[in-house]
Amino acid sequence: IKCVGILTSGGDAPGMNAAIRAVTRAAIYNGFEVKGIYRGYKGLITGEITPFKTQNVSNIIQLGGTILKTARCQEFKTPEGRKVAYDTLVKEGIDALVVIGGDGTLTGARIFATEYNYPIVGLPGTIDNDLYGTDTTIGYDTALNTIMDAVDKIRDTATSHERLFFIEVMGRDAGFLALNGAIATGAEAAIIPEISTEVDQLEELIKNGFRKSKNSSIVLVAESPITGGAMHLAERVQKEYPQYDVRVTILGHIQRGGSPTAHDRILASRMGSAAIDALLEDQRNVMIGIRNNEIEYIPFNKAIKNDKPIDRELLNTLRKLSI
Ligand code: ADP
Repeated sequence: IKCVGILTSGGDAPGMNAAIRAVTRAAIYNGFEVKGIYRGYKGLITGEITPFKTQNVSNIIQLGGTILKTARCQEFKTPEGRKVAYDTLVKEGIDALVVIGGDGTLTGARIFATEYNYPIVGLPGTIDNDLYGTDTTIGYDTALNTIMDAVDKIRDTATSHERLFFIEVMGRDAGFLALNGAIATGAEAAIIPEISTEVDQLEELIKNGFRKSKNSSIVLVAESPITGGAMHLAERVQKEYPQYDVRVTILGHIQRGGSPTAHDRILASRMGSAAIDALLEDQRNVMIGIRNNEIEYIPFNKAIKNDKPIDRELLNTLRKLSI
């Protein structure tokens, strides 16, 4: 391997820039050339690619978003599109890729790597924390802190007006943000997709009289077709309990932005550096994970479409502390 290409794809996450910096610097440290590919897989189709020196990644560790931009690319899902991408890589002399993104990005990487026997290392970049094989993903801690700050503010007004707030947070198929956000803010409950098949969480909440001893309540809801979302739940409660003063806040894209926390910067720096180590060790088609503070190489097919279970201990803690 002489030249490593790097791209960010799918949903952006705070800490992606710290990862781009780490991959670039670690690669140059080890004598590789680096090329930055813009707009995810789209840049491989359009050829939007620039050589990266150490200065290209100066002063970005503290920035949210991604300087390489990100995009969704339908063409990469077709064999014809991937052929164009492969030809671009050959033309540019890029002989290994580091891709930063979520489940979709790693799925695309796995397909491409197999099709062309091409070395790719993935980094888990998503605020949802829904990738198996790593304790947390790049961006998750920052999003969690953003949620905490927002919910703290909502609590001030919720308490003053004695209101019941349903606050919707991101996490399409994963309740990590909702559950840990609820614990961090002292919320009454979290409604998450992982457990709604077992019981109707809302019914349980009402049955347990969640408003009995309190003059305000906050419930965090993971945005998901399974939970139905905060609006839907609020409407149900309002209909059944007209005496409650119910409000809804959807935090939305505020959760994606902002300067990454120390945790995410360090995570991204370690993972970016490990991605180059992996290539040097002839590893390919693996995602870098950190579990119990140890770097691990997780094969793509294990990292994707593999449910990362919610810790029961966290659920029980929330339940106990919200009495
Ligand atoms: P994320 O990486 O955040 O989960 P997406 O699901 O949008 O985001 O995936 C990002 C990109 O990865 C897609 O736009 C597409 O280019 C590529 N991708 C996703 N799934 C596949 C697939 N099955 N085959 C090939 N490429 C894919």
